[in-house]
Amino acid sequence: MPLAFKPIIDGVGYVEIPDSGGHSSVYVVGSPRDALIVDAYTAGIAPDIASALEAAGVRPGAVRAIVVTHGHQDHFGGAGVLSRWSGAPVWASLSAALQAEDPWGYFAAPNSWSANASVADWDAFRAGAGEGGLRVERILREGDVIEHAGMRLDVLLLPGHDRGELGLWERSRRLIFTGDLIQGGMDASKNWLGLFTDPASQRRSLQRVAALRPEWNFKGHRRARSGEEVGADIASALGRLDAIERALLESLREKSPQGVPALTRAAFRGVLGMEVAEPANYATVSVLSFLLDMARRGLVLRTAEHEWIPVRK
Ligand SMILES: [Zn+2]
Repeated sequence: MPLAFKPIIDGVGYVEIPDSGGHSSVYVVGSPRDALIVDAYTAGIAPDIASALEAAGVRPGAVRAIVVTHGHQDHFGGAGVLSRWSGAPVWASLSAALQAEDPWGYFAAPNSWSANASVADWDAFRAGAGEGGLRVERILREGDVIEHAGMRLDVLLLPGHDRGELGLWERSRRLIFTGDLIQGGMDASKNWLGLFTDPASQRRSLQRVAALRPEWNFKGHRRARSGEEVGADIASALGRLDAIERALLESLREKSPQGVPALTRAAFRGVLGMEVAEPANYATVSVLSFLLDMARRGLVLRTAEHEWIPVRK
């Protein structure tokens, strides 16, 4: 599939990858002669990404590094292929490195998005992560600075969607790369409620990015946002966290105890107004992360049967 490279602003362009729910992005920061690649999408599509980069004038030896924002296969999956194509090292947070270097172990880990995965989920994950593997050569940490092509990129840790989510913040032009922190709109056709591993961290990370008042936000999926759109996008992401929690509490006040699958259906009903007979695995895992967070705050309790009840105030 031929993919197109599209410039966005001076020093930032992307390879646009049409996927089922919008658009995923592989960003090029700097110039074709001195490129930092941010995210790599999946292994199967990585050769097409390399072709699009070459067509845009990015020569293999001109890639400085491939930064992976987080350990999901639609971000790190192509990094091994792009690294072998370009000779450039892969940089990631420790948690993303653990997930990317050992995706099979990650897939089986408790409390990963795949904890209850089906065979179809596993097949999709394996196809995305690829068989060639990759090695992360630099662990990026909060406070690290990447000086690149006249830009100073501050590394921010922005957990919530994934534990090791990284952001890159360029202060002088107020540019920020946020991976999947700020997820796409609620999409009924895709049953997309959002994917969360820790809603409390997610809230803090969103508030942190909002406080920076970015002028441009480059996200892992869907088009870049600029100006007033950035704050509105973050406000809607925060609103969704509230809406999911509210739907869960209202459902539990109507009927309890309930298990996670029933509460996941309640979240879809309350937030998106849709009946989902069999919610996707990522949705039940996300709802469980909400319930655990609500339990920490004394709003709900888990019974010995692993069902949930509200705490009456
Ligand atoms: Zn993700």
